[in-house]
Amino acid sequence: MAFVTRGGVYCSSCNVKVIPVNPKKEYISCQKCGHPNVHIRLMFDGQSLKVYEKQGKPYSYSEAVADLITINQQIKEGSFDPRDWKPAGQNERSFEFSMGAWLERKDLERDKGKLAPSTLATIRLMRASIT
Ligand SMILES: [Zn+2]
Repeated sequence: MAFVTRGGVYCSSCNVKVIPVNPKKEYISCQKCGHPNVHIRLMFDGQSLKVYEKQGKPYSYSEAVADLITINQQIKEGSFDPRDWKPAGQNERSFEFSMGAWLERKDLERDKGKLAPSTLATIRLMRASIT
């Protein structure tokens, strides 16, 4: 892992740092318990960050290493944002996205006279205060 100066890849079952015993093997599992899924752990801004999955799928060793390299590059370039890697951050953004779509539909209802304009203004204020 030449490009990785921060963090490591850990077994999701027994939490040991996974070290490829045989790097030529295509599918690397935990050398201690044999579990195939791993997670990334690193310290950033004094906080411990764990990444368990990519697009809802648990990491395999090679996927985790690839993303850890990406994270290290982003940290080096100064573009790293932990929110991009936390599932919670993704949820917040998808919430924000569906909220936007919902408001657009409500705008249409208001334009058709089905909804009082003041109701939407209140919702927009609430939205601004939570995002
Ligand atoms: Zn293990």
